[in-house]
Amino acid sequence: MKTNSKDTICVHGGKQTDEFKSINTPIYTSTSFGYLDTEKRLYPRYFNTPNQQVLIEKLSMLEGAESGLVFSSGMAAISTVIFGLFSKGDHIIFQKGLYGGTINLILRDIERFGIEYTMLENNLSESFLNAILPHTKAIFIETPANPLLSIVDLVAISEICRKKHLVSIIDNTFASPVNQNPIKFGIDVVLHSATKYLGGHSDITAGVILSNKQRIEKIEKTALNLGGSLDSLTCYLLERSIKTLTLRVEKQNANAQRIAEFLFGHPRVNKVFYPGLPSHEGHEIARKQMSGYGGMISFETKSQDTDAFMRKLSLIKPALSLGGVESTICTPSTTSHRHLTKEQNAKDGISENLLRLSVGIEDVDDLISDLNNALTMTN
Ligand SMILES: *Cc1c(COP(=O)(O)O)cnc(C)c1O
Repeated sequence: MKTNSKDTICVHGGKQTDEFKSINTPIYTSTSFGYLDTEKRLYPRYFNTPNQQVLIEKLSMLEGAESGLVFSSGMAAISTVIFGLFSKGDHIIFQKGLYGGTINLILRDIERFGIEYTMLENNLSESFLNAILPHTKAIFIETPANPLLSIVDLVAISEICRKKHLVSIIDNTFASPVNQNPIKFGIDVVLHSATKYLGGHSDITAGVILSNKQRIEKIEKTALNLGGSLDSLTCYLLERSIKTLTLRVEKQNANAQRIAEFLFGHPRVNKVFYPGLPSHEGHEIARKQMSGYGGMISFETKSQDTDAFMRKLSLIKPALSLGGVESTICTPSTTSHRHLTKEQNAKDGISENLLRLSVGIEDVDDLISDLNNALTMTN
């Protein structure tokens, strides 16, 4: 299939048909496949069954990657990249402000296996450069990052990595492949929690690694030992979800821009963090590397009672996770960042009245009116 259109790739990319010419990919639930007269040795944990292959082809096309692997969670993908590419004695630089689960993995597990790291205090290009040690092997970034939607310059990071022979790795979950394709900017490895925008309906847990063939082959050898493969039924559901990815994300982009502008001007709101606002610290860089600013907004209310505010919402659901068709909201200080101390969170700009809104595909005026009611009704 020859196309550069994400709309077309979402629908048709990686299609596998059968003798009945079915429009949808058949679901191969088998864990056992014949092996005579073929070189193929199919098995789900070898990441090579038909449903896994179709899905990874679609995702590779969307991100402009040569190859990839699908996992049973985003964290399975992230931990497999770390343990698949790096060894005892290697050093990795992590940006400031990552997904809570990634921070947990770094703090709890990687050092036990002899992998050293530096977690940066800020994400300026020179801070990445200054953190490079003789045994540094990689830079790991996440942009836009959780929860303040901070932006890291993809071109700057890929240039540093090229010059210093490091692997550049990005968690691209918040942007989704619709809004940002890091490989185009020279980034080596792209990760997604497919639980979020790729799945998009709050009913799938999955993860993805995308890169060049050589690196994926290396990661795959560890992946099949760690065993975080995804079953065919969920592969099918994820493939089906991705057919509407561009429609969903473009609507979420448009809704989020309107809502961010509404919140920005609201007398009961202190601060708004959204890369699409010119006031956002990372707006200029985001404009260069993102084709849309995404569906995630964080904001601080004047009121300290965020629970009371969330209880006054009727359409927007206070809930964990993000990226679904329905709008959800949470306070990072009591959810994703609850393991960190109050002092650490305060230092990172994550106040107790910070709210993180995942904008869905509902009518934007309904969402704005829901927010306005709750803001007006909470002191
Ligand atoms: C949710 C999330 C993850 C982890 O994904 P799971 O599917 O929950 O394992 C990683 N990175 C980001 C940015 C996320 O939002």
